[in-house]
Amino acid sequence: MDEGDKAGAKRLNWPPVANTNGMSETRKLHIKSFGCQMNVYDSYRMADTLAPAGYAETAEAADADLIILNTCHIREKAAEKVYSEIGRLRALKQEAAAHGRRITIAVAGCVAQAEGTEIVRRAGSVDLVVGSQNYHRLPDLVARAEAGERVVDTEFPLDDKFDALAAPAHAAIAKRGVSTFVTVQEGCDKFCTFCVVPYTRGAEVSRPLEKIVAEVEHLATGGVREVTLIGQNVNAYHGPDAGGRPAGLAQLLRRLAEVPGILRLRYTTSHPCDMDDALIAAHGDLPALTPYVHLPVQSGSDRILAAMNRRHRRSDYLDVIARLRASRADLAFTSDFIVGFPGEREADFRATLSLVEEVGFATAFTFAYSPRPGTPAVELDDQIPREVQAERLQRLQAVIGRQWRAFNARFAGKTLEVLLEKPGRHPGQLVGRTPYLQTVQVIAPRRLIGSALPVTITEVGSNSLFGTLAGQPSTPDFAAAGA
Ligand code: SF4
Repeated sequence: MDEGDKAGAKRLNWPPVANTNGMSETRKLHIKSFGCQMNVYDSYRMADTLAPAGYAETAEAADADLIILNTCHIREKAAEKVYSEIGRLRALKQEAAAHGRRITIAVAGCVAQAEGTEIVRRAGSVDLVVGSQNYHRLPDLVARAEAGERVVDTEFPLDDKFDALAAPAHAAIAKRGVSTFVTVQEGCDKFCTFCVVPYTRGAEVSRPLEKIVAEVEHLATGGVREVTLIGQNVNAYHGPDAGGRPAGLAQLLRRLAEVPGILRLRYTTSHPCDMDDALIAAHGDLPALTPYVHLPVQSGSDRILAAMNRRHRRSDYLDVIARLRASRADLAFTSDFIVGFPGEREADFRATLSLVEEVGFATAFTFAYSPRPGTPAVELDDQIPREVQAERLQRLQAVIGRQWRAFNARFAGKTLEVLLEKPGRHPGQLVGRTPYLQTVQVIAPRRLIGSALPVTITEVGSNSLFGTLAGQPSTPDFAAAGA
């Protein structure tokens, strides 16, 4: 799996391992993942599911017997970008064939879901198209594709794919690090007018609570210390509890906070309308729930929020923020914004700027609106010219950048808990994260990876904070620090 086109996608770069089913041949799998954290998680689960069939991951597409493109439909011209990527892989496939080696090419993810058979019609080199609800069938689908069939499976099945997906081995968990994602919910019923998710991922479906708890317990025994619960609309989670009653996200978080070894919990991405009293109270009660809430608002203008079908007004959003702050005073907020939505006037955009300042977001993801085929906003009049969008985006990013720098600066000289995640670039250095997801470089021995320790921030850089373990000398001494 390679770097995708959004932060969060990671390269899975561990060496191949022996297969576990007694087959003598280990085949190589390369997954290139695009888009959101859910795709990163799905790529992990695809690799876990194919491991018992004898597939071990490789970071090099050229070495692979099976290449999976795990696609994202959020970005503009997403389908066209996938077809260009397939074109590059076709050349690789032809070269391998000239040397008597077969490469099977599969397309997964949201573009696969949206395009379906169109992909095999347009791209002769693609052997398999698999929708995002069907990954548990991959061993069978891949076997059929390798036998020469061109396979398309994008139906939304009734069976629970999470039940059928293999659990990762402890070695695989260890490679992925102390912080990981767990999907608890998929799909969305909100139908924002700019968004393809309800069409590509389907209606909201939540996993049973006990199965998520069991998965997190398994991850914790493998060394995971921080779990980010993910879903397209994660705070709409309503999976059945042990008694079959619907449980909310707050109930799930309370159970997970009790799992031995789990130090931190996060969740993303939320909708303001689903931020219920129980979840707000959980922020006040659960020390493991990090004080960093990503709550997309998209616009500060009621007129644009209505055109987006966001189902809330600016005042509703501000009310949720106030209630969260009343529950836990040290909460920091991040958000998503779309500028230049059809019909957005300068006054609407100024309302967005004023909302950013009023809430005091620590940071935010910002996008210029671009139409997604099949979504209602495509049909709206008054599409905003590109140059106006670009100018507004720049102004918004300037405000958010200023707030981000101010947010980081206030930690200089302060001591805060850092979860140490992995070795840094220098000998003796570890990289960790604060509860606010800031990266911290700290001198500490390797045995502390997986520990959450107080760190005093000695320097605030543009991308990272630098610190020392509380009570340690503040001058980094890379040579002296034991690794
Ligand atoms: S709530 Fe989020 S996932 Fe659902 S339609 Fe709106 S933007 Fe898309």
